[in-house]
Amino acid sequence: MSSLGPFVDTSSGGSAGEAEVTVPAAWLDARATVEIALPLRLRCHACQGGGCDACGRSGVFRLPERAEDRRLELPLPPEACVLRLRDPIEAGEPQLVILSVSVGEATENVRRLSPEPTPARMRLWWWAAAAIAVASAIAVAVS
Ligand SMILES: [Zn+2]
Repeated sequence: MSSLGPFVDTSSGGSAGEAEVTVPAAWLDARATVEIALPLRLRCHACQGGGCDACGRSGVFRLPERAEDRRLELPLPPEACVLRLRDPIEAGEPQLVILSVSVGEATENVRRLSPEPTPARMRLWWWAAAAIAVASAIAVAVS
């Protein structure tokens, strides 16, 4: 399975979907490993849902039906930020998931696993040193 570590996303273009998660500050402080359940559909980053070539005019990327194929497991960064996850779904779309991590009450789609990291179910490449650190809530996503 994949290992986790920082990477710098130097690519531009390609398909990118957006997802959000909110976690308690304590989880960030502990750099907890979490499991994140991605939704069935991710909004297209390029067109914000309007429809473009990257997403086949649909405005979204459809992820695998099986919930377990949509799970990501990763260690949290030290602070709220935007993470860019490369190739989150093997041989699937999108090629990138832009995951906004913000601080607050844990959302339903996230579960703390740490301290013991376990192998990721999805092939998750390195994520984001390129993370744009934003102290509070994040808004790549303009909804
Ligand atoms: Zn699009």
